[in-house]
Amino acid sequence: MTVDNVPNVRTCITPLEENIRVLEQDRVGELSNKKKFNRKRKKIDVDIVIVGSGPAGMMAAITAAKQGVPSILLVDENHLIGGQLVKQSHKFFGSEEEKAGTRGIDLAVELMEQVNSVKTIQSMLKTTIIGCYNGKKNHKLIAIKRLIEGDQLIEINSKSVIFACGAMENMLAFPGNDLPGVYGAGGVQTLMNVYGVKPGKKVLMVGAGNVGLIVSYQLLQAGVNVDRVVEILPKIGGYNVHAAKLRRCGVPIYTSHSIKEVYGNGKVEGAILVAINNSFKPIPGTEQKVSCDTVCIAVGLTPSIRLLEQIGAKTEFIAEAGGHVAIHDSSMQTSVKGVYVAGDSSGIEEASTAMIEGQLAGISAATLLGYDKQADMLKKKYRKALEGFRSGPFGIKPKICKEKIACCWNGGINY
Ligand SMILES: Cc1cc2nc3c(=O)[nH]c(=O)nc-3n(C[C@H](O)[C@H](O)[C@H](O)COP(=O)(O)OP(=O)(O)OC[C@H]3O[C@@H](n4cnc5c(N)ncnc54)[C@H](O)[C@@H]3O)c2cc1C
Repeated sequence: MTVDNVPNVRTCITPLEENIRVLEQDRVGELSNKKKFNRKRKKIDVDIVIVGSGPAGMMAAITAAKQGVPSILLVDENHLIGGQLVKQSHKFFGSEEEKAGTRGIDLAVELMEQVNSVKTIQSMLKTTIIGCYNGKKNHKLIAIKRLIEGDQLIEINSKSVIFACGAMENMLAFPGNDLPGVYGAGGVQTLMNVYGVKPGKKVLMVGAGNVGLIVSYQLLQAGVNVDRVVEILPKIGGYNVHAAKLRRCGVPIYTSHSIKEVYGNGKVEGAILVAINNSFKPIPGTEQKVSCDTVCIAVGLTPSIRLLEQIGAKTEFIAEAGGHVAIHDSSMQTSVKGVYVAGDSSGIEEASTAMIEGQLAGISAATLLGYDKQADMLKKKYRKALEGFRSGPFGIKPKICKEKIACCWNGGINY
């Protein structure tokens, strides 16, 4: 939206201020002369910079600090540390060591306290990394920090970089998908669980993977009516335990169904659903209207890799990863020396595995700088834990994803 004459502002991460003027925008933004920009540039030199303070980024920072790395910078565009965890009010699944049974929100606080208690980790919030390149000696990252007195440009020089940028939500193309009231599931979670705002009164959920099921349940907990969940596949993609909770609350889940369009005068007033055949084509004549004021899209995530591509890391399209991912070795090192990746940026998975990958990346980055205490033993331990996670029935996709990545790393796309 346009905020105080500045176009293309991401209002979802821009704090509200007194007398702020927010306007909708239906055009290509132009740069305004009135844009507030703090002219004082800043330069920072660090040993390791970590982009993203989700579970992967926080664990990478904590692990590198434990190894003795003297200066670590953890950067995040949000005003809170924790990535996705800050909006997850449900208890996590997974192993006890990786905090199963703990709520994502509590885990974020626990890890944030650990990060804040270490003097060698500096957290820089409300700061977006907008560019990166390889300098002669170091890697250079360009950041914009949002300050009340005006945005500030920061140049970060670092010996090593860990990209733990998470993922972006997928959208669906259908008529009316730009009407106010059509949300991504992550957006709905942020509104409800971070800002305490209900997205609407009656929701149609599209997607019955874990995200769609969990967010539907959280909507019910917030007192919002969930009309139904539709899922294009012939079976539910998420865990049965989440689906069962919804059904017990009377929310039907329609498999082999999808959304055809959303209608409404200036805002969502309803949607048209359609049944889907075995070839994933809509079956004519099966259309039905559903009245609702909110449509929530939970149809998967795509790894955030734009910065990795910019710095020159080799990427490959791997369907099981959720899209293009940076090719990396078993220490999370990408094709650019000193540049590592961890968490959803390296293939969509879970917070538990993001934490372990973060630990691996943290150890590897520290080792490169000469802080290699018990590095081999620790790496073995983390790799074993990842193997354990990926050996169960829900670990098949990430397992194949990582096998394909290893295959690419070893010189070919022979999958
Ligand atoms: C509804 C839902 C339920 C889930 N339930 C579970 C569960 O029960 N158990 C489980 O293990 N997992 C669960 N997950 C998955 C888990 O949340 C993610 O896999 C995990 O958060 C990924 O961690 P990450 O550190 O890779 O990325 P994220 O947590 O996404 O963090 C990435 C951070 O990087 C920041 N960032 C990105 N680009 C930039 C940039 N250019 N500059 C600055 N900052 C940037 C982002 O703003 C974000 O804060 C769930 C996910 C969802 C959506």
